[in-house]
Amino acid sequence: MSPLNRRTLIVGGIAGGVTAAGLTVASAGVAPPLSYPFKLGVASGEPWADGFVLWTRLAPHPLDADGLGGMSNTTVPVDWQVSTNQSFTGIVASGTFTATQAWAHSVHVEVSGLTAGTWYYYRFRAAGHISPVGRTRTAPAVGTSPAMTMLFTSCSHYESGYFTAYRRMAEETPDVILHLGDYIYEGKAGSGVRSHSPAVEISSLADYRVRHAQYKTDPDLQAAHHIAPWITVWDDHEVENNYAGLTRADSSPAGDFAARRTAAYKAYYEHMPLRAAQAPSGANLQLYRRLRWGSLATFHMLDTRQYRDDQACGDGTKLCPAADDPQRTITGAAQESWLLNGLNQKLGTWDLIGQQVFFAQKLAAADGSKSMDSWDGYTANRTRIQNGWDAQGNDSVVVLTGDVHRSWAANIMHDYAAQDRIIGTELITTSVTSSGDGNAAENALDPALNPHVKFYKNLRGYVRTVTSAGQMNVDFRFVDKVTVRDRPVTTAQSYVIHAGNPGLQAS
Ligand code: FE
Ligand code: CA
Repeated sequence: MSPLNRRTLIVGGIAGGVTAAGLTVASAGVAPPLSYPFKLGVASGEPWADGFVLWTRLAPHPLDADGLGGMSNTTVPVDWQVSTNQSFTGIVASGTFTATQAWAHSVHVEVSGLTAGTWYYYRFRAAGHISPVGRTRTAPAVGTSPAMTMLFTSCSHYESGYFTAYRRMAEETPDVILHLGDYIYEGKAGSGVRSHSPAVEISSLADYRVRHAQYKTDPDLQAAHHIAPWITVWDDHEVENNYAGLTRADSSPAGDFAARRTAAYKAYYEHMPLRAAQAPSGANLQLYRRLRWGSLATFHMLDTRQYRDDQACGDGTKLCPAADDPQRTITGAAQESWLLNGLNQKLGTWDLIGQQVFFAQKLAAADGSKSMDSWDGYTANRTRIQNGWDAQGNDSVVVLTGDVHRSWAANIMHDYAAQDRIIGTELITTSVTSSGDGNAAENALDPALNPHVKFYKNLRGYVRTVTSAGQMNVDFRFVDKVTVRDRPVTTAQSYVIHAGNPGLQAS
């Protein structure tokens, strides 16, 4: 990432003037001078054909226990610039965002009016300090289908290892990165290679802010944010392990779970490059959304936590006929019809469903035991969605999944018991760090139980996809260790998926 380091940017200077208000405040001594406030790096996200979101958060002291990052209760003007080059001699958009303590001095700028399918560079300035430079891009125009390199991953537990996978992802210079949840973990400090802050299990807004800030200080994570726009959805650990809607999964820590979820959702918004449409509203946050990547692909980003029924039969992995109750939902009725409607429109060649938990059926034992936290615990909801897209003749659906800390690949079947007809493809990324180093030799595939499940690997890493109008090339990428810094990445398995012919093919 050396081309984008801070020195480059300082040499290049900032072309726009600092706002008069900013200079006046600093020189008059009304507020003490701010020490370097960009310790959380910068990020971009939500690429549209004419713009994107730019993010940063002012936090000169990221781990302060009050969650305010060392900022006082004053508003701070933050200048931002977008340029066609990294020397900032081609500025095409600029402005000033007013950061406030109510939002932890986070910055969310929605830039519009830019050229489709184009790379840009961006930076911020506050109180005389200049941020690192980020690289980002707009989505291609509808009507065009240039090839897209998309990386996706999930489950980045800070204590379990170093975020080397993020560093290797940055080095791939992708067009876009998806994070499918468990971006932070809520647990107290444990016994990994490094320790959580704060040391307690987080439950207050201040705690969630500190935890997010701690993760954002990681240089490998920052590198991945600095290289490309991200599209993120949460899973459970951004709030609490295996929660369901407003139902907590356990009693630790005690307290009002709705208040806890509200705090967690607000902190998530404050730390992610999301649009104002995703700002929290009361106890809720509208996270499911669609993004178009020209006429090549449509991202349908799901939220399978906020609206789900409680896990059946007390959660866990078990034989549970109640999981098949047609009333049960993991999406909620509104999101289900929104998704089916979007899939039926076939807005682009590929429909990519970015979501959290294992989608295809996966039997854990011959008696029919399955994971109640996954779509196997909500089978009628799954059947309505997958057979819904199939009935509409949508033959280019790929489900992208996280959560399980292992990589898997599966064909989505019209009827799993009969192994009748492949109607889609599921790619499951492993974790960035969660579950630690793993075991390259472990094999959990059981073709007798799950003939449609084709690949398994228990190592840390991510999935790389290179998609064109004709095919998607898939590489499962792994680092051999995360308890040791800076390991190389290698491809353990590749597949091709052909547009119009669902299922995994040998590459
Ligand atoms: Fe996880
Ligand atoms: Ca999870």
